[in-house]
Amino acid sequence: MPPASAQEIQPHEPIIDVHVHAMKLNPNFASDLCPWFLSNMPGGDPNSPPPSFMNADCVDPLKAATSDQEMQDALVEVCKRLNITMVASGDAEILHHWYAAAPEHFIPSLSLSSAEDMTVQAFEDSLSNGFYRVMGEVAPQYQGMSPSDLSLDAYFGVAEKLGVPVGIHMGTGGNGMANITAPKYRASLGRPFLLEDLLARHPKLKIWVMHAGYPMIDEMIALMGANAYVYVDVAGFIWSYPLAEVNAYIQRLVQAGFGKRILYGTDLMIWPKLLETSIGVIQNADYLSYDQKRDILFNNAVRFFNLDPKQFEK
Ligand SMILES: [Zn+2]
Repeated sequence: MPPASAQEIQPHEPIIDVHVHAMKLNPNFASDLCPWFLSNMPGGDPNSPPPSFMNADCVDPLKAATSDQEMQDALVEVCKRLNITMVASGDAEILHHWYAAAPEHFIPSLSLSSAEDMTVQAFEDSLSNGFYRVMGEVAPQYQGMSPSDLSLDAYFGVAEKLGVPVGIHMGTGGNGMANITAPKYRASLGRPFLLEDLLARHPKLKIWVMHAGYPMIDEMIALMGANAYVYVDVAGFIWSYPLAEVNAYIQRLVQAGFGKRILYGTDLMIWPKLLETSIGVIQNADYLSYDQKRDILFNNAVRFFNLDPKQFEK
């Protein structure tokens, strides 16, 4: 039996997912997925094949979508059924298709992780043309770079000037990230304290730390204590690391006093059912009150993104 509080949340109560990736389906990457698959990270030998990034060896893996249209149809269906609004970034063509299909359910976000992605002027033009309302995912960690690296500073300056909220990847690299797809990835470049210089240079910049800096909870709590406008999301780690560890991390953030600064996020890629699986972690959390769940799933994002709660009433 789920705890009684899980049933208090009716499906029509709005949910904001601040962390969704629009991507063209790559058949080489489109494998099925077991939630919480990082419960076993046995390691290996550098002379043997590297660990696989995903794991489909469980009784009921989540199915990967098989086409871009199938992914879009499934997303729009679940957004309407569960009253979900998504902050989504990634492939511009896919994002425009999603937005055209259900504009009230998508808040487009412009991702940028290196000055090579686009010029500062092109970035400012894109954020000013009315389509993009958020900056993210910014993920310099995968390129061996700190978020406070000066090569990104002018872009953050644009977001600060325009009042655009920014999501920055910090932490979480799965099992063997540096061995598999991102040789420049450094776990140490996900330390929440690396945001301090950036925040000091841009006092009006509104940032949320994607993946809540998992697993660096102490630095995360210290950073949020020192910087009153920093929020976090629970994306990615909520469905990949061991479930007991996930719950302990979220509980620690709430226990430390930051229940009003946790945003719900999935890190959704190509598995439509991952949404319900991940939302269920919050809904079934017996350490959270009904009000705390509503804060994480909706109210905190309304406050962070300056949204009008009335626009979500059905
Ligand atoms: Zn990320």
